[in-house]
Amino acid sequence: MCLLLPMKILSLTFDRIANGEPSNILLAESVLEFFGSSGTSGGQPKLIPVTAETLKLLPISSALLTAVMKKHFGNLDQAVKSQEFQFAKEETETPCGLKARAATTSMYKNNDYRNIISKHHTSPIEAIFCSDTNQSMYCQLLADLIQPDEVVMVGSQFATALLRAIKFLEGYWKELCSNIRSGQISDWITDSGCKNAASSIMKPNPQLADSIHKICSCESSEGIIKKLWPNAKFIRAITTGVMSQYVETLEFYSGGLPLVSNTYVCSEAFCRINLEPLSGPSYVSYTFLPTTAYFECLPVNNNSLSLSQEVQFNYASQHEPVEKKSNNENIEPIDLVHVKLGQYYELLVTSYARLYRYKVGDVLKVTGFHNNTPQFQFVGSQNVILSIDTDKTSEADLLNAVREAKTLLDPLGFILTGFTSYADTCSIPGHYVLFWELKAKQGNDSIELDPKIMEECCYRMEEALYYIYRSCRKRNAIAALEIRVVKQGRFDTLMDYYVSRGVSTSQYKTPSCIKSKEAINILESKVIRKFFSPKIPM
Ligand code: AMP
Repeated sequence: MCLLLPMKILSLTFDRIANGEPSNILLAESVLEFFGSSGTSGGQPKLIPVTAETLKLLPISSALLTAVMKKHFGNLDQAVKSQEFQFAKEETETPCGLKARAATTSMYKNNDYRNIISKHHTSPIEAIFCSDTNQSMYCQLLADLIQPDEVVMVGSQFATALLRAIKFLEGYWKELCSNIRSGQISDWITDSGCKNAASSIMKPNPQLADSIHKICSCESSEGIIKKLWPNAKFIRAITTGVMSQYVETLEFYSGGLPLVSNTYVCSEAFCRINLEPLSGPSYVSYTFLPTTAYFECLPVNNNSLSLSQEVQFNYASQHEPVEKKSNNENIEPIDLVHVKLGQYYELLVTSYARLYRYKVGDVLKVTGFHNNTPQFQFVGSQNVILSIDTDKTSEADLLNAVREAKTLLDPLGFILTGFTSYADTCSIPGHYVLFWELKAKQGNDSIELDPKIMEECCYRMEEALYYIYRSCRKRNAIAALEIRVVKQGRFDTLMDYYVSRGVSTSQYKTPSCIKSKEAINILESKVIRKFFSPKIPM
C-alpha cells in the first residue's frame, strides 16, 4: 500500500504556516512566499509553499528553454524582441505576512527576469504590473504595434491571454491607430506607470498608423498576426490540454506561423519542456526536467480511463464498452525510470518545498524517451468534471467530444472560440450543458446558425462520450445534451470574473466545467440560441 499523504492534511499544514506557525512544522527551510495556483484547471485555488531552493529552479528551467528555442530559431537574444502578453496579479499577504502571489507574478518581480523583459520584450514592465487589465492590454498592444519589425515571437503563457489580446485589438485598433498617428496616448489611460512607459516610446508616426489601419480594416482578421508583425517567426503559447480548444482560432489569426507550446508548468513544480518546439499542437510531448522535483507516476489503469481518453490520439479506434473505476488510491506509484511507453500515468510531485507525493491532477501518456528521460503527452485533468448519474466524464473526455463535434462547424465558416460546461440537474433527469462561443471566419458577426447542424453537433458529442454516458442516455437517466450559444465576448467576461476573484490573467485557463452559480449566470444571461441532441446516441 503506498503512502500518499492526504492532500487535506498537507493543505491544512500549509494553512497553519500561512497563519503564522513556524515553517519547521513541515520543513527545515523557511517558507519565503506562497504561489497561488490558478485553480481553474483542477478546482479550488491552492497555496503552494516556496523556499529559496524552489526559486533557484526558475533560472535553470528558463535557461534550458532558451537553449532549446535557440537551437530551433537561432539566437533570439540579439536586437530582436518578443511580444509576450503578461499580466502580474496583485499580491496578497497571508496572516503571518508572507506574500501569496501567482507564480508568474513572482517571476515578473525577479530582477533577472525584469532585465530580460526590458531588453528583449516589447511590453513595458509598468504595463505588466498595471492592475487594470484593459489599460495594461492597451499599452502592451501599443508598444507591440509601434515596433513591428523587431518582433520575432508573439505569445503569452497560455493561449487564452494571447487570444484575449487579439480580440482586444479587434475592438480597439482604430483608437490605437489614432494614438500612433498623433503620438499621444488616449485620456482613459490614467495609470501613471502605463502612461509614462507609453509616452516614453511614442512619437507621431502617420505612416505606421496607415499601414496598421489598412491591415485591421480588412473584413476578416485572418492572418492578422503575421501581417502586423511581418518578422515574427512563431507564436508561443501553451496549446495542449484544455488549451487545445484554441488551436484553430490561433491558426486563423496566425497567418501560418508555427504554434509553439514549449513548456508544461504548474505552480507545484517546474516540470517539463518541449524539446521539439516545431511539432504541431497535437504531437507535442514534454520532456521531464528530472532534477526540478522528485517525480513519480501513478499508473492509471486502462480500465479507469474512459474510452475517449484512450482514443484521444487515435481517432480511428473502435468504441468498446469499458468500466470506469473512480480512483487509483491503492495503486503503487512508480519512479520515472520505470514508466512504460504508451502507458497513462497520473503525476505525483515531491518538491523541495515539501510537497510530498502531491497529486497535481494531470494525466499524462508516455510517448518516448530523450536519452533515459521520459517524454509525455498531456492527456487532461484526472478529475471527473461532469456527472449526472453513474457517468463520470473527465476533462479529456469532454475535450475529445467537443473536438469531434466542432468539425461540423468548418463548412459553415464558424470557429469555436470558447467552450465550457456544467451538469444541469434542475430538471429530471439532468443533462450536460455546453456553452459555446462562435466566431464567423469572415467578419460577419451576426450568427446565422443552421439548427440541423447544431443539433448534429450535440449528437456528435454524445456519440463521442464514453459507453457509460451513452448507456445512461439509453435508459433515460440523462436527458439530451444541450449546446447554448452565447453572445460574442462572453468568455472574456467569464475570464474577467475569474480574474476579479484572484486568478492571474497570465495563468488563466478557461475552465472546461464551471460550478459557480455566478459564473454560470454570466454565460446564461447572454445565451442567444439553444440546441438539443435530437436522438439517443448509439
Ligand atoms: P496553475 O494551477 O496555475 O499552476 O496551473 C497548472 C496547471 O495548468 C497544470 O496542472 C495543468 O493542468 C495546466 N497546464 C500547465 N501546463 C500545461 C500544458 N503545457 N498543457 C496543458 N495543460 C497545462
